[in-house]
Amino acid sequence: MSNLPSPPPVPMCDLATQYKAIQSDVEAAVLRVLSSGQVIMGPEVTGLETEVAEYCHAKFGIGCASGTDAILLALHALDIGPGDEVIIPPFTFFATVGSVVRTGATPVFADIDPRTYNIDPEQVAEKITPRTKAIMPVHLYGQCADMQPLWELSEKHNIPLIEDAAQAIGAEYHGKRVGTLGGICALSFYPSKNLGTYGDAGLITTDNPEWAAKMKAIRTHGSEQKYFHKYIGYNARIDAIQAAILRVKLPHLDKWTGQRQEAAARYDELIQDRGLDGFISRPQVMAGMRHVFNQYVIRVPGESRDALIAHFKASQVACDIYYPLPLHMQECLKYLNLGEGDFPESEAAAKCVLALPMYPDLTMEIQERVTDTLASFAKKHVRKGKAA
Ligand SMILES: *Cc1c(COP(=O)(O)O)cnc(C)c1O
Repeated sequence: MSNLPSPPPVPMCDLATQYKAIQSDVEAAVLRVLSSGQVIMGPEVTGLETEVAEYCHAKFGIGCASGTDAILLALHALDIGPGDEVIIPPFTFFATVGSVVRTGATPVFADIDPRTYNIDPEQVAEKITPRTKAIMPVHLYGQCADMQPLWELSEKHNIPLIEDAAQAIGAEYHGKRVGTLGGICALSFYPSKNLGTYGDAGLITTDNPEWAAKMKAIRTHGSEQKYFHKYIGYNARIDAIQAAILRVKLPHLDKWTGQRQEAAARYDELIQDRGLDGFISRPQVMAGMRHVFNQYVIRVPGESRDALIAHFKASQVACDIYYPLPLHMQECLKYLNLGEGDFPESEAAAKCVLALPMYPDLTMEIQERVTDTLASFAKKHVRKGKAA
């Protein structure tokens, strides 16, 4: 046995390294808020709203407490509630469906395109009814959903589109940026997102002044004028400290996105070099897409995935499953009477996907370790014919 010290564990996402690079600016921003005394709303919040809206090429930005609240406020802006239906994919983070149910509306699922894991517009077309009040595509892993056919459906049936862009700030669809690909766009600043803060925060963008005003009011107990309440709202404000931190981070976003894209290209090469293309499938970037790689997700043979994860664990290399159980099979949604077999592409994806470590500071050295871990597993298992 060698006495070499084992290399440090590889995380999914390395926030500490990024923090070191911007530490003094972040700390100055936090202190600026603390000494200003303006800790609820105020200039940091309006500054961030303007800057993110500009970044997304949208007219209005409304900061809020989380990406989940961003979706919820978007649904309320459209007056969605009991009796209404909202079409969403079953293969996404829970917040997409949880927000729909919280309004009292009924989630209606449309299966995904297995190449991109995003909602399949043909499936959406089949799910439209007179009760459909919104279609909410998710730009999963950082790649836009196929918007053109969704725009056509939206126009034909007069149904607004809400983007769940929690994982996709900066992503583009044929040159058009996330933020105005639908009528309203929900963003998340959860720490592991491409523009992440040190806590919870979110933001909504729209070009529609009425929806913007309504979401602003609902964010603060439904009041446009203090103590006069037009709507039943929430306390869903964005924290002023988080807003100040995000203003420090936003100017770095394009550089970080470029680093994610470079890391994704390196994974592609390393996987090819190691002859792993037959064993796994790499992410597919569709034509005309600016994929911002919030995650780099491969597809592995379902029957090998548990053993592969154990192998990663033993090698101290992180990996994760986004997401292991499709929404239509979640315990709390049993009342929808859906189950296994209803959305085969989502169910297959849930059994096969595996996310590899992905963050802007990912180095070639670490990526070699990740892909070596994949290769050593494939050597042991595939040649014996255990894996497909
Ligand atoms: C992260 C995420 C959300 C929720 O954002 P929070 O800020 O964590 O509330 C919603 N949808 C998707 C697809 C997400 O990845």
